[in-house]
Amino acid sequence: MNWEYAPAPESRAIVDLQPSYGLFIDGEFVDPGDGSAFKTVNPATEEVLAEVAAAGPADVDRAVEAARRAQHETWGPMSGAERAKYLFRVARILQERSRELAVLESLDNGKPIRESRDIDVPLSAAYFFYYAGWADKLEYAGFGPSPQPIGVAGQIIPWNFPLLMAAWKLAPALAAGNTSVLKPAETTPLTALVLAEIFQEAGLPPGVVNVVTGAGATGAALVAHPGVAKIAFTGSTDVGKGIQRELAGTGKRLTLELGGKGANIVFEDAPLDQAIEGIVNGIYFNQGHVCCAGSRLLVQESIAELVVEKLKARLQTLRLGDPLDKNTDIGAINSPVQLEKITELAAAGVAEGAERWTSPCALPEHGFWFPPTIFTDVSPSHRIAREEIFGPVLSVLTFRTPEEAVMKANNTPYGLSAGIWTEKGSRILWMAQQLRAGVVWANTFNRFDPTSPFGGYRESGFGREGGRHGLEAYLDV
Ligand code: NAP
Ligand code: MG
Repeated sequence: MNWEYAPAPESRAIVDLQPSYGLFIDGEFVDPGDGSAFKTVNPATEEVLAEVAAAGPADVDRAVEAARRAQHETWGPMSGAERAKYLFRVARILQERSRELAVLESLDNGKPIRESRDIDVPLSAAYFFYYAGWADKLEYAGFGPSPQPIGVAGQIIPWNFPLLMAAWKLAPALAAGNTSVLKPAETTPLTALVLAEIFQEAGLPPGVVNVVTGAGATGAALVAHPGVAKIAFTGSTDVGKGIQRELAGTGKRLTLELGGKGANIVFEDAPLDQAIEGIVNGIYFNQGHVCCAGSRLLVQESIAELVVEKLKARLQTLRLGDPLDKNTDIGAINSPVQLEKITELAAAGVAEGAERWTSPCALPEHGFWFPPTIFTDVSPSHRIAREEIFGPVLSVLTFRTPEEAVMKANNTPYGLSAGIWTEKGSRILWMAQQLRAGVVWANTFNRFDPTSPFGGYRESGFGREGGRHGLEAYLDV
């Protein structure tokens, strides 16, 4: 029996939405040079939330210049202990304003409030706390006796974890004495702008962080700017490859966090109910808009039927709908473009002969929605087994031996994440050594911690964010 839940919506009154937002340059909110703007919508309702300034090349230039000045005059020369005080202050204000940020993130992105409240916002604060602790200990980080900042970092982030990706990028860059020009994604600019307010509130010197909102062209202008010493990009593999081509030979440093097609591998001895929760968390968390999602389930043949049956039963209890409702498990798809991509790939799954099952949940009338979906009878050559769907769609494949599981898991151009479910410790260690993925989880999935490095290889990119390793990208060592 499924429980009927009474609506439990979080109030949006705590968010002070402004009708329009400017660019954050040199410590002030300013109008863009040519006055252009775009709208950001709530993907759960299609309601326009605000108009946001679109930065052109001249605005990006102003932002880079402000960041360069701040790096030379205030932030770079400042002692690590002083920089740490600012970062600790930012972390504390993030905690103080956590409810507001969670509601705003859910409004702008469509993710359930349960996730923005319990994951995105607290983790964002945790990354600032963590890197604040490193700011006065850089010479002990293992990168030589006197590591130096590299200058202005151009940081480009996607829409799936808007505030958290900003924190992942900014906290290590600032701790190491760099300054930043941050380019949020077009569909989710609002929490980065509140973060800019928080920097003002924390008294961060002007120019240390600049936020240039806009679409892909704004990001491209930032990549091309000669005053930027390093580009940190999180986004799609295609755009990442283009950036890498463009930066070749320029001497600018680059880290890329790109897509993935993670394997979640379940052995017959796994604690099944726990594994079911892990599979659900692996691919239906954040509507599957997760680069390290466990989008390919590899399940041992002997238990495949049972696992799929349990999974379907579990998915029918997930509640899809209003992201601001505290009972909601599955929120809205971030944009019509993303919905179209998911729909197209799911149709390809059917056309190529896989068996589709979709949770029978009612979809709201307005907004962008896709119900939790499972494909069985998937073969490794199917597009749904190879391409990143970035939506709540799971492809199930089977295996008989650990060797076959490893071979199938590694049969991808990506290399970001993998999960292993088994009671056998020696198998976990053996598998973790064989799997070509930057992160391997054992009997859990999608766990993040500021002390732990995260990143991929092959087409998932290079460089690490988080942990001591995450400092390296921002230090001249
Ligand atoms: P995307 O189109 O590559 O966009 C990422 C960011 O780059 C956005 O801010 C985007 O601006 C900007 N951008 C677009 N074209 C650009 C260009 N030519 N030059 C510079 N910047 C440009 O990716 P997305 O669709 O937003 O994000 C989904 C992808 O990100 C997925 O493939 C996912 O796997 C990956 N991702 C990876 C990680 C990781 O850590 N590995 C984490 C999260 C997401 P607009 O949004 O305004 O177009
Ligand atoms: Mg939006």
